[in-house]
Amino acid sequence: MSYINGMNRDQVLLFPEVLDDYIADNNTVRFIDVYVDSLDLEALGFKYALPKETGRPPYNPADMLKLYIYGYINKIRSSRRLEQETYRNVELMWLLGKLTPDFKTIADFRKDNAQGLKQVCREFSVLCKKLDLFGRELIGIDGSKFKAVNSKGRNFNEKKLDGLLKQIDEKIDAYLKELDQQDKVESQLSNPTTEELKEKIAQLQSRKQQYKGLVEQLKASGALQISLTDSESRSMKTKQGTDVCYNVQIAVDHKHKLIVEHEVTNEVTDQNQLAEMAKRSKETLEADHLEVTADMGYYNGDEVKKCLEDGIIPYIPKPNTSVNYKLGLFGKEDFIYDSRKDCYYCPAGEKLNFRFETVEKGRQIRYYSTSACQQCLLKSKCTRNKESRRITRWVHESIMEEMQQRVRENSDKVKLRKRIVEHPFGTIKRWMEQGYFLTRGLEKVRGEMSLTVLVYNLKRAINIIGVKELIVAVS
Ligand code: SF4
Repeated sequence: MSYINGMNRDQVLLFPEVLDDYIADNNTVRFIDVYVDSLDLEALGFKYALPKETGRPPYNPADMLKLYIYGYINKIRSSRRLEQETYRNVELMWLLGKLTPDFKTIADFRKDNAQGLKQVCREFSVLCKKLDLFGRELIGIDGSKFKAVNSKGRNFNEKKLDGLLKQIDEKIDAYLKELDQQDKVESQLSNPTTEELKEKIAQLQSRKQQYKGLVEQLKASGALQISLTDSESRSMKTKQGTDVCYNVQIAVDHKHKLIVEHEVTNEVTDQNQLAEMAKRSKETLEADHLEVTADMGYYNGDEVKKCLEDGIIPYIPKPNTSVNYKLGLFGKEDFIYDSRKDCYYCPAGEKLNFRFETVEKGRQIRYYSTSACQQCLLKSKCTRNKESRRITRWVHESIMEEMQQRVRENSDKVKLRKRIVEHPFGTIKRWMEQGYFLTRGLEKVRGEMSLTVLVYNLKRAINIIGVKELIVAVS
């Protein structure tokens, strides 16, 4: 049996004479080229968008941007690998006119142009809107943790530092005892030797000083944790446990699952992200009316209120975080609020009247109770309080009750959330292999994420419309 054989290496070949002949009409690089050339990079804030009069001319930011877009589309993000590709990749030779910038120049471009990259990403959203690729009615908002350039071992909080300092003290005590023992027997042959033990103690003392310094830093800054490699990254809960990450937020339009807005924060939860993301999305989409669906992690009365004030209707299911419920006692949902009389009715049918109002964590909270609890037969199922059961109510609680009503009546919108937001995160993390950052610091990782989002949207637009049609749209 014979195999399919390659050509003979010594055979004379007739390659196409023009580089352009290697690039098919529907090759993505053709669109990257036209699109980047259509942008006003100076207005978008790119460094060196206007060449200097004197000195060595810099690379054109347009070429560097083309290189990065091409790289991110093809899962090549490292500056060293991008440099390598400029020497051997025919598509890049075509795209850059055979320019071969060194890796440092490539890396600096990404570091220095975070703001410009964000603006390009936004410009592409504007193009998508122009091409009617957004439904502009319903968006899904979600967050995902992206690994930062900081190992878990170089992230500390007070509890961890206390534990480490305790461990060091225990070790030092153990070594000192060992030293005492050696002094008593006056042995020169012990293992470890006296000198080795002294060195170990000195190392531990030095580490102890370092940890104590970190404790002081934490106290002085009021921060809850400190990261040594990327000082702005934070330890966060992930699906796999905990890791040092950034929290990436995206707002996705339901029509074609294109990302309308994105943000990178170092907040460890999604609780305070809803309103700003929704507001920015509404502005980008220029929508008069917008609905937003998000998961229970976004359930926050203040954020929901802000959305409603901005003309955005949220659909967020309520999480069951009631301690009473976990203890097997009646939860707040077992009490019925009567808005006309401003009172609650409990499972025993008693009326809980308004007692007083207070401000807790900046929120106006109203308290309701009844004097009937002491004689109530259901008390053991209702409260562990000796006195009576108290029900609290945020002064704007009605907006949350109305949202729950909307959620019940529109379960399809809540279910849609998963389908809308999981596609982009799945594509970015699995297909594009971009679940981690290469740069450090919020500003730079924001620029990096903008490139990722730009490339996700660009690929999606090409899949929907096609390269030739997109070229016509920007020409
Ligand atoms: S303990 Fe008080 S609030 Fe609870 S069911 Fe009885 S009367 Fe109602």
